[in-house]
Amino acid sequence: MDCIFCKIAKGKIPSFKVYESNNVLSFLDINPLTKGHCLVIPKEHFENIFYIDKNILEEVISVGKIVSEKINKNLNSDGIRLSQSNGKVAGQEVMHFHLHIIPRYKDDGIDNSMTATSHRPQADFGELKNLAEKISKNI
Ligand code: AMP
Repeated sequence: MDCIFCKIAKGKIPSFKVYESNNVLSFLDINPLTKGHCLVIPKEHFENIFYIDKNILEEVISVGKIVSEKINKNLNSDGIRLSQSNGKVAGQEVMHFHLHIIPRYKDDGIDNSMTATSHRPQADFGELKNLAEKISKNI
């Protein structure tokens, strides 16, 4: 199947990994809404909330909590917004279940009504590498 997140999960294309558990992977979004914007995905392909296995979904949420705590501590964010879209009409662009973890900063200039999928420029890879190292530090 030609799924970009399956390729990332299998290591066939690179990503900036911040955390991994048995069935779940978290890496930096390549078009971040804010500094440290991460995604959490199941390694196995499930299209969306309607298809994902319940136990795997629980693992995704648990990893989402761990990554949120790491971001909060290691990047000094002021808040975290979680976002997750199911179906094109809801704004889902990559058809492999994913949870957005969007750090928020007091002066980030982001409007809360902005969706995670607003079009954004690609981040600098050197910067993403530094952020992945910072976030994945133990807390
Ligand atoms: P959504 O619009 O909710 O489906 O979000 C898909 C997200 O995947 C977007 O925020 C993209 O920036 C992100 N994305 C797409 N390709 C990659 C990639 N190769 N590495 C990291 N993030 C990606």
